[in-house]
Amino acid sequence: MREGSSNPPAAATQPMLGTAYRTALTQFDDTADRLHLKPGLRALLRSPKRELIVHFPVKMDEGSIKMFTGFRVQHNVARGPAKGGIRYHPEVALDEVRALAMWMTWKCALANIPYGGAKGGVAVDPKGLSFTELERLTRRYTSEIALLIGPERDIPAPDVGTNEQVMAWMMDTFSMQQGFSVPGVVTGKPVSVGGTLGRTEATGRGVAVITGEALRSLGMPVQGAKVAIQGLGNVGSHAARYFRDMGCTVVALSDSRCALYNPGGLDVDGLLRWKRETGSCSGYSGAEEITNEALLALPVDILVPAAIEGVLTEKTASSVQARLIVEGANGPTTPEADQILAQRDVTVIPDILANAGGVTVSYFEWVQNLQFYFWDATEVNRNLERILTRAFGEVAAAAKRHSVSFRTAAMMLAISRVSEAVEVRGIYP
Ligand code: NAD
Repeated sequence: MREGSSNPPAAATQPMLGTAYRTALTQFDDTADRLHLKPGLRALLRSPKRELIVHFPVKMDEGSIKMFTGFRVQHNVARGPAKGGIRYHPEVALDEVRALAMWMTWKCALANIPYGGAKGGVAVDPKGLSFTELERLTRRYTSEIALLIGPERDIPAPDVGTNEQVMAWMMDTFSMQQGFSVPGVVTGKPVSVGGTLGRTEATGRGVAVITGEALRSLGMPVQGAKVAIQGLGNVGSHAARYFRDMGCTVVALSDSRCALYNPGGLDVDGLLRWKRETGSCSGYSGAEEITNEALLALPVDILVPAAIEGVLTEKTASSVQARLIVEGANGPTTPEADQILAQRDVTVIPDILANAGGVTVSYFEWVQNLQFYFWDATEVNRNLERILTRAFGEVAAAAKRHSVSFRTAAMMLAISRVSEAVEVRGIYP
């Protein structure tokens, strides 16, 4: 590829960027420097390929009409169709979706599954909607982004604030418009409409599998290792169960409203039951109530941020006591925090490796949908472990070879793979 364009401005000198996008671009810039990426290739990989913003009406239950804003961003599709979740959260914004789409490109490349990266979302608090309003919002948003999605183009999945019911509505809306069932348009669907066994718990299971590998590589014992998990949604709740089953002691868990700590270990199932029945961790009697910030600073072996971006910052990173951080969430650590943690000898297993279990089983679901042939749970989980342990081994070997952090090693591998695909395909026309 001939090179002409100059390097884009570094993320650090673009103060108006949202936190997540600044983090994603800084991580990319650092890695591009190390890989000596040619300027044109660098500019191409730094930019989203396609961005769609939609403003759409939803009829509320009491008869009024409310406008919502939604997004779908495809970062890169050199290695295959775009893939990435749909987020419903009041703070969803274009910059955040861009960051999440870029991370998906690297994550899929690192797991070596044939996808590019995408992400979507609607700026909405789903808890403020009734079930029927949520359905109408989902169906209208799906119609608005239908020009981009499809099994061979772009395949959404659940993320923060969405779940398998939302995926079922998306699949049904797209299918109705086509005139026939298209199960492969989304993953993370209920099993009754073409979902795969093992998808709901896949990200949490993957977090536990990767943590096991990391503990072994650091020479830390699994049995009795103390774990604090921030976020008690899909990722955090399943991760908590797998950690407990591995023999770790889960001492702290939290949701957006409260955090709970019991140094002797929490009853994970009891707490999850309490949250299911009451809607919050608050008021649970088997633990002390602390703040979410205090959870990050607990005396534990393993800290798992599994909620939102940007929680480990310049301010919070210096009080972390864990030796190992496993990023269940996407983008929980800012570049400044990364530096502080490295100086303090805290090992960080990056999101694009730690939470890749979700997209890996989404890939299995899509393969099953395209073949109309379904796997049993043993096959799903065996293949998940095979892909994740291979990815961990490749990252650990690269980290050792280049004397770099796990994040840098993972980013170097991922960006090299996407770069190779871009270069070998060439620039059209
Ligand atoms: P979820 O909506 O199921 O759960 C999110 C959890 O975070 C909830 O318990 C919520 O109360 C908590 N939370 C929200 N704001 C918080 C705050 N300020 N402080 C503490 N807790 C807060 O979402 P999820 O699917 O579990 O996703 C969590 C993270 O994992 C996100 O970063 C997401 O992008 C990432 N992720 C999810 C998947 C997946 O398969 N669902 C896959 C890969 C990565």
